[in-house]
Amino acid sequence: MMPRSMSQITTAIFHCAATPNGRFHTIEDVDYWHGPDRINRGLRPFQREQIFIKKHQPHLRHVGYHFVIRTDGVLESGRSLEEVGAHARKFNSSSVGICLIGTDAFTEAQWTTAKSLILTLHDSLPKLSKIIGHRAVNEHKTCPGFDVRAWMDNDFNSLHDHLLEV
Ligand SMILES: [Zn+2]
Repeated sequence: MMPRSMSQITTAIFHCAATPNGRFHTIEDVDYWHGPDRINRGLRPFQREQIFIKKHQPHLRHVGYHFVIRTDGVLESGRSLEEVGAHARKFNSSSVGICLIGTDAFTEAQWTTAKSLILTLHDSLPKLSKIIGHRAVNEHKTCPGFDVRAWMDNDFNSLHDHLLEV
């Protein structure tokens, strides 16, 4: 697939990793879950294309997200923005995928990083107009574990009911 242009991206889609709240994971773990772990579970792995692997994060061969936000607040880069993700069926080509490690409670550091990421994306993606949770577009019941609309209405500050005390 050809690199996409930044003006194709209209939507930021939030996910959670569905891991125990507060448990530390890195993007290398996510890469494993999207690759070998899917094969072990009898599923087709997500597979990045060679042209993109070579240019960006060459040690990650599977990760479907563009960004992962760790419990310590560190923002990790998965796919580059010009690379279509694998995270929301039918919406991948027009979106950027962001995954918070955890299930439905996240650290203040994670909320802070998520907010600054949104502000950064607004600067680099001229057509970005929708910020939504995965469950808004696919038949997921829970992902990302919080109400993205409520978070927007709270000026992207941490949601009290989804704040993990550490
Ligand atoms: Zn999801």
